[in-house]
Amino acid sequence: MNAARELWTMFSPHMVEPGHPGGGRPTLTPADLARALQGLARGPFLMGMAKETADFSILSELENCLTAEIKAMSWPSRDTRAPIYYRRCAGVAVFEVLVQRPNECAACNGEGYVMVDHLGMPCIACEQTGGHKLSARTRAEFVGLAWSSWRERWELRYENAYSVASAWHEEALDHLARNIPALLACASPC
Ligand SMILES: [Zn+2]
Repeated sequence: MNAARELWTMFSPHMVEPGHPGGGRPTLTPADLARALQGLARGPFLMGMAKETADFSILSELENCLTAEIKAMSWPSRDTRAPIYYRRCAGVAVFEVLVQRPNECAACNGEGYVMVDHLGMPCIACEQTGGHKLSARTRAEFVGLAWSSWRERWELRYENAYSVASAWHEEALDHLARNIPALLACASPC
């Protein structure tokens, strides 16, 4: 990770607050971030909005963008229901980029550590993350496909969808990181 990205990762969770900054410590609002994301192509812009500003009103447009992208890069499907499956693959991929580990870890109840002899030890089952990624079978279920169709024809398309959505988010983060100085200047009380 480059330095600017690292800086952004340190700042972003506690610097973004809804509404207007209240003075004192510089605070970025979702509107500030939306401005800072401008200049990106539509896909990365929308992915950045969803993930970094939690603006979910654009989810439908984001999923449509991703659907078009993965359709263009995939081997054509003769299945008449393919448009529906593409759209659902896009929806699940966006969800997985937004919520990396949606399944709470049963070993540690989502805490990321377990108590051993009154000592907190890192949970090995979830590698301290507190959760697990969706299983391939759950993805197939969400998209509405039989397991065999999923494995033979759709898993790769889904992986493309996830890769594109992740890359869009990375691009959005890089763009935000480059704009940090200007963002902080705007967010300071003046
Ligand atoms: Zn765990």
